[in-house]
Amino acid sequence: MTTTVAAYAAPAAGARLGPTTIERRAVGEHDVLIDIAFVGICHSDIHQVHEGWGAAIFPMVPGHEIAGVVAARGSRVTAFDVGARVGVGCMVDSCRLCANCRAGLEQYCADGPVWTYNSVGRDGRPTYGGYARTVVVDENYVVRVPDALSLDVAAPLLCAGITAYSPLRHWNAGPGSRVAVVGLGGLGHLGVRIAHALGAEVTVLSQSLRKKDDGLRLGADHYHATADPATFEELAGRFDLVLNTVSAPLDFAAYFSLLRTDGALVNLGLPEDPVHVELQSLSGNRRSLSSSGIGGIAETQEMLDFCAGHGVAAEIETIRADQVNEAYERVLRSDVRYRFVIDAATV
Ligand code: NAP
Ligand code: ZN
Ligand code: ZN
Repeated sequence: MTTTVAAYAAPAAGARLGPTTIERRAVGEHDVLIDIAFVGICHSDIHQVHEGWGAAIFPMVPGHEIAGVVAARGSRVTAFDVGARVGVGCMVDSCRLCANCRAGLEQYCADGPVWTYNSVGRDGRPTYGGYARTVVVDENYVVRVPDALSLDVAAPLLCAGITAYSPLRHWNAGPGSRVAVVGLGGLGHLGVRIAHALGAEVTVLSQSLRKKDDGLRLGADHYHATADPATFEELAGRFDLVLNTVSAPLDFAAYFSLLRTDGALVNLGLPEDPVHVELQSLSGNRRSLSSSGIGGIAETQEMLDFCAGHGVAAEIETIRADQVNEAYERVLRSDVRYRFVIDAATV
């Protein structure tokens, strides 16, 4: 028996989101039913509502930064009691058998993970995300939100937080390393906080100096405007790691020049248009261009525990569900400080 649940959906590509209802599956023996408290707005929600990454499934209920409380659990659930404070990120299932799933890299599942929305579940039904009152998820794809984190500021960690944390760990950001974060939005502000908490020297590269005070308060040691050509002269060859969080195509050659020998530019932003890369600008100093997608389930739990232990959380503006279209417009104008979070009680 499915349950009818209030949600906010885009009825068609590029359409405004509005109130609707969806059907959630019955709670299976390995599932938890989560009462959603807060859900973050990720720029990926906007790309997908606009079909910017290709054909999508409509109606679409976006939302993959979900924080809430377990309201019911299946008979074979072991990890979560009713009342547990939990989170769900971008994935709700994967094959569990391939080498990547076995290595805790479920986000790179050989079969493709089941994404939280705009995806088809293993039951053949479309998945619907967290702009809703409840969600039903297999306990293996649910993480625990530590007591030190409020659910509202924890929600954005489930995508933006892990997307920043995973490459910072993989590329060994820490004491003695110099990290640049390009773009001070949802991913970027958590990249700054986490890199600072890891002990790295952190530089923000933003379009302008408009948000400089915030950047320094968030933990950056330096802040530069990319609109100023002097920035690229001054910082040439400086960084071990550059994390690009920009949602639009970037002039990569200019950013490669900021890397020291063997430095890496890790691309996190997923623009809708193809990007042109001049390979000559990489080969000079054995620099590398790489990319990274979210993080595995165990690493997401590790990230939440790290954030709780280091006083790291998202800086948010809480909105009602009926403000979501306006919030999308503000994100597109880079007018977000630094994550919109929907109070799910207003859905
Ligand atoms: P966001 O909050 O909109 O932040 C993006 C930031 O990029 C903006 O705040 C702005 O920072 C800068 N920016 C935007 N447009 C720009 C332009 N035309 N030129 C230069 N800079 C620009 O978005 P987000 O939620 O952090 O997501 C960022 C990107 O990462 C999106 O493409 C999203 O889909 C992608 N993403 C990827 C993953 C992954 O797993 N790899 C996970 C989540 C999201 P300044 O104003 O400081 O310049
Ligand atoms: Zn996201
Ligand atoms: Zn797999």
